[in-house]
Amino acid sequence: MKTRQEAIPRTPIDVLSLAKQIASSRGWKVGRQTEMEVEVTTGISMRSMGETVRVAAVAHPTIPGSSLVTVTSSARLQVYDFGKSESDVDVMMAGLLQGPRYLSTAPTVRPAGSTVGARKFCANCGASMTMKVRFCPSCGQPAD
Ligand SMILES: [Zn+2]
Repeated sequence: MKTRQEAIPRTPIDVLSLAKQIASSRGWKVGRQTEMEVEVTTGISMRSMGETVRVAAVAHPTIPGSSLVTVTSSARLQVYDFGKSESDVDVMMAGLLQGPRYLSTAPTVRPAGSTVGARKFCANCGASMTMKVRFCPSCGQPAD
């Protein structure tokens, strides 16, 4: 079990939507979510049975518009955890601290090209967005 806590200059809603985007960009599964918390399950690999990473965000007590964010992970099978829980927490926290820049530098399988400039609409909330975005800028759901 590993926990990191940081102050992040975004609202709790933004932090949680960002957390979901980071999870999707890494192929992690978003599970239970509330207004204050998102739970994601990281991938199962040769070295790890996967684990649950929990991102909790509350309004920062002294900095308006900021959040106090806690990222916790627990390996499902501790015995097979080769220190991976640490890196998943660090990956998530680094992404949250970097914000959308992290997502734009994350590897993508989608080729850029002919559809640049066209618009599409979010199936979840109906927001309009450019074809090349992978996540709805309004609700954070995958854009296709
Ligand atoms: Zn949306």
